[in-house]
Amino acid sequence: PISLVWLRRDLRLHDNAALYHAFKSGRPVLPVFIFDQIILDDLDDQHDRRVEFLVQEVSRLQDELAKMGSTLLVRYGKPIDVWKELLSKYTIAEVFTNHDYETYAKERDKAINKLLNEHSIELHTSKDQVIFEGDEVLTGKKTPYTVFTPYSRKWREKLSDFYLKSYPTETYFRQFCKAKPEKKLTLKEMNFEPVGDSFPARTVPDELLDTYIKTRDFPALPHGTSQLGIHLRFGTISIRELARQAKAANDKTFLNELCWRDFYFQVLDHFPHVEKHSFRREYDQIKWRNNEDEFEKWCQGQTGYPIVDAGMRQLNTIGWMHNRVRMITASFLCKHLLIDWRWGEAYFGKKLRDYDLAANNGGWQWAAGSGTDAAPYFRVFNPTLQAKKFDPKGVYIRHWVPEIDQPNYPKPIVEHTIARQRAIDTYRKALARD
Ligand code: FAD
Repeated sequence: PISLVWLRRDLRLHDNAALYHAFKSGRPVLPVFIFDQIILDDLDDQHDRRVEFLVQEVSRLQDELAKMGSTLLVRYGKPIDVWKELLSKYTIAEVFTNHDYETYAKERDKAINKLLNEHSIELHTSKDQVIFEGDEVLTGKKTPYTVFTPYSRKWREKLSDFYLKSYPTETYFRQFCKAKPEKKLTLKEMNFEPVGDSFPARTVPDELLDTYIKTRDFPALPHGTSQLGIHLRFGTISIRELARQAKAANDKTFLNELCWRDFYFQVLDHFPHVEKHSFRREYDQIKWRNNEDEFEKWCQGQTGYPIVDAGMRQLNTIGWMHNRVRMITASFLCKHLLIDWRWGEAYFGKKLRDYDLAANNGGWQWAAGSGTDAAPYFRVFNPTLQAKKFDPKGVYIRHWVPEIDQPNYPKPIVEHTIARQRAIDTYRKALARD
């Protein structure tokens, strides 16, 4: 009998909690990765950077394991069907995997757990993709935090080296099952096409951590932020290693961003209604205008507001947008155009290579004012002033909107002062009903 490790958002062999616990079972260990057809069928663009990244990283793991005389089982299908097949093919004693906090994933894991239990097999699960999860950081009343600042204070207090220790999986590598290399799955076999971009490096240079506080808000700087999102999303780097590095560099600002990441995961875990609804329920009463033509202009970067258009074009072209500009474009959609934040959330969800439900949802609800740390509804970002402050020489804007001074560049889709007042009135009306 063997121990199976089901890899999902933790595509690495070093410092992996589930893998470590599988080794500790003392049995031979075999990892498996499933390209989940339920998730992939939902993607409507055949050119998807996330799927391409997954194929690349799964192949890398297969190569690493082949060098050790082992393999990574790779399957494409619905997880429940794949597990039935694995159960019929292997003598499995125990299964190990790492926690996932999205509703779909939690339900999937429940179903797999039930199936395994029917075969008298236990599914062991561990925390791995965050530093603190669920009930580890709670208020004095033992309730989850719903505001970031006190959460982050408690989070920092608790952040001892103990929680940042790596799981020393390397010591056990000889325990991987001896197996022939598995056939590699290609994008084509799953009906996807390559985009062909290269992906950001898996590491963050110490120099960036030294200057991050000064560079992070300026989208024109090519390396002002780490671009590690996609690696954190799929676990190709370890959050513990990254946090250790930031702590050693004494970069409180970068650590704070990792804290936001944990925060939104715990919000999603404790308040799963945020996946479909406003965190603050009363915000579901806002009468959105939802003008489809304006939405399309926003998506295409044709609003006539250069910083908004630059951001959307950056997103459409490279599958990534700078954080400052994510805040500006999201606020513009919700407040200036009065379009439901869920439309924007879904659009980012299709395009972002670092798309992550928890952080994306948190970011959008923040912009709409409906979330945990909502900015007061009457505070409406002025995109022109934001651009002056964070792209003072217009370098970022000119890169993405080269025709800015030409007659073919569109006139502003709405006038700022009018849009601002309209947003305040609409929000006030909705919130007054309570
Ligand atoms: P860096 O600035 O180098 O930060 C390092 C890491 O910290 C990031 O990779 C990310 O994992 C984490 N982080 C940083 N800021 C945040 C934050 N505000 N909330 C949560 N985690 C954070 N982040 C995502 O990972 N996926 C998303 O789908 C996503 N959607 C967003 C949507 C909106 C509307 C907004 C306002 C923000 C969103 N963010 C999202 C948060 C943030 O914009 C990105 O994490 C960041 O821009 C990614 O670039 P980076 O890797 O260079 O970040």
